[in-house]
Amino acid sequence: MFKKILIANRGEIACRIIDSCRRLSVRTVAVYSEADAAARHVRMADEAFCVGPAASSESYLRGERLIEMAQRAGAEAIHPGYGFLSENEAFAQACHDAGVIFIGPPVEAIRAMGAKSAAKRLMDEAGVPLVPGYHGDDQDAERLQAEADRIGYPAIIKASAGGGGKGMRVVRSADAFAEELASCQREARASFGDDHVLIEKYLERPRHIEIQIFADQHGHTVSLFERDCSAQRRHQKVVEEAPAPGIDEAQRARMGEAACNAARAVDYVGAGTVEFIADDSGAFYFMEMNTRLQVEHPVTEMITGFDLVEWQLRVASGEPLPREPSALAIDGHAIEVRLYAEDPARGFLPSIGRLAHFVAPPASAHVRLDSGVEQGDEITPHYDPMIAKLIVWDVDRAAAVERMLSALADLQIVGVRHNGDFLARLIDHDVFRAGKVDTGLIEREMETLAPASPDVPAVFFHAAALALLADERARVATGASPWAAVDGWRLNARQHRTLVFTAGDQEREIRVAYADDALHVDGERAALEPSEGARYRLIYGASQQDVSLVGPAAARHVFAAGAHYEIAWRDPLAEAGAVDDPQAELTAPMPGTIVAINHDAGAHVEAGTPILVMEAMKMELTIKAPASGTVVRYDCAVGDQVGEGAELFEFEADAPDTSA
Ligand code: ADP
Repeated sequence: MFKKILIANRGEIACRIIDSCRRLSVRTVAVYSEADAAARHVRMADEAFCVGPAASSESYLRGERLIEMAQRAGAEAIHPGYGFLSENEAFAQACHDAGVIFIGPPVEAIRAMGAKSAAKRLMDEAGVPLVPGYHGDDQDAERLQAEADRIGYPAIIKASAGGGGKGMRVVRSADAFAEELASCQREARASFGDDHVLIEKYLERPRHIEIQIFADQHGHTVSLFERDCSAQRRHQKVVEEAPAPGIDEAQRARMGEAACNAARAVDYVGAGTVEFIADDSGAFYFMEMNTRLQVEHPVTEMITGFDLVEWQLRVASGEPLPREPSALAIDGHAIEVRLYAEDPARGFLPSIGRLAHFVAPPASAHVRLDSGVEQGDEITPHYDPMIAKLIVWDVDRAAAVERMLSALADLQIVGVRHNGDFLARLIDHDVFRAGKVDTGLIEREMETLAPASPDVPAVFFHAAALALLADERARVATGASPWAAVDGWRLNARQHRTLVFTAGDQEREIRVAYADDALHVDGERAALEPSEGARYRLIYGASQQDVSLVGPAAARHVFAAGAHYEIAWRDPLAEAGAVDDPQAELTAPMPGTIVAINHDAGAHVEAGTPILVMEAMKMELTIKAPASGTVVRYDCAVGDQVGEGAELFEFEADAPDTSA
């Protein structure tokens, strides 16, 4: 086993690798960008080195520098995590050349699986089933269109160098092909520096089922069973589980065998994942092989009891696989959700900011949280906005679903928008509960998964009212409150006050009064007793419950009974400030780069017409016309870096038609 390794990554995966290293008494060296100097993975590692500015290309992707750091620190090996340099054959080669062990497969295996097109040709030869498609080198737009026409629509265009759901476009008809191809190539160039694409028949309602394989340097290759990652949004995984619902032993064995054959065909060593799409009939087709540890590997760990990072370290240091194939078995069921700093109400736009409050369910045999951040940390625009992965285990799928719902209900996050409630609605959805998940489920059910705006239960307003009064009393006590003068709260004063609160578009008046030496809220005796941190015991009439309160009265986050609302107090003394900004749609929603401008200044467009495309946080965002009207002038050009809120163009909406 190694004595010391360098982890060429950041965030939750760097932290997760450090956890295993600690358990195995392997010392760890972290690397960080200037933006990550105070990040959790840096705090956790034994040593850490700054490798450059925030941009990944100048820090986490600087292979030579990372290798130099490993040598300087005396690390024998480099673990690349996932993303960044994990599937970069040049980096793996450079490690070998420098005498540092790359914790991953041989360079040739990375190369063989790296380009999706070449990998598919290779798998075809090895007898692994493929979706009908075009994987050739001729990238002429007309040739590609002709191939798509031959394959038939719907078809999918994929960046050959793509990954993580990026660089893919579904094309529904021949006349849409050219535009989708251009957009796909643009994203591929920007994200992967290579615009080579392949085309495949697009299967409707397939499932994504992948096999975790492991191979050692002594010729053993095993399958550690499947994961179902069908719950996807825009081809990015949202929920993963193991085992896959509805798969029987025979199909499991067939898929495991195909995956091991794929791995053997490239003399694979280490952890790898062979991804298939499967249809209802039980047929499955090879999509790609990821030659690294996968984001969703924890569900496999939960059902097998193995630590896959430990397996990686053992295999890389030359040991045989830790278990005989006959000792591999599935125990129970595990589900993982990816908790993202994003706003489901605004098209899942990444949400950046400081995690002012972050409380997760306690870790146990049933619940695991893999996170790269803690309360107080920043989600920055520089990297993937994942907050954490929440993983649960239970004896069967139905029990695991309940576990996940209760774990999500225990989650408290303030400071960034996040998808926690969205995930809970997805897990609780009848179709998910029934295990009938396909890759289109989320898009199809978006309406039922969208946040309902139910009446906010009274308890949230009661808690907010009591918290406001407590704040005021505290300020009176320190002599700092304006209320000391205008209001004169005193115990036993037998007076009442009406407080107005809003939650989203709901407004509620709460009447508070002092009587019989006690506070009465909406006619009941009420009190808020501090417990620990942000937690309080709300006593209301003859009932009690836990609540958590975060933030000031103007934007108080109240957590109770597994729900969370932001309750705002309408301060009668404060100026009401907010004015609707009709230009809001035309400004950059986040910092990014302008990649395309679709119309000339002066062009007249219909409402919803894409006006320009920007790239932000590795995503393409399309800014559309807010109404039908004219683009008067652009305030940006292709290639410009724009800050959040920067004006992008001036738009004049058509005057309403009054002729009729
Ligand atoms: P990435 O490398 O970005 O993960 P993949 O090739 O693995 O890209 O595909 C990601 C997802 O896209 C799959 O899980 C599936 O949902 C969808 N997908 C890919 N190919 C097809 C196809 N031919 N038909 C239908 N869906 C597909």
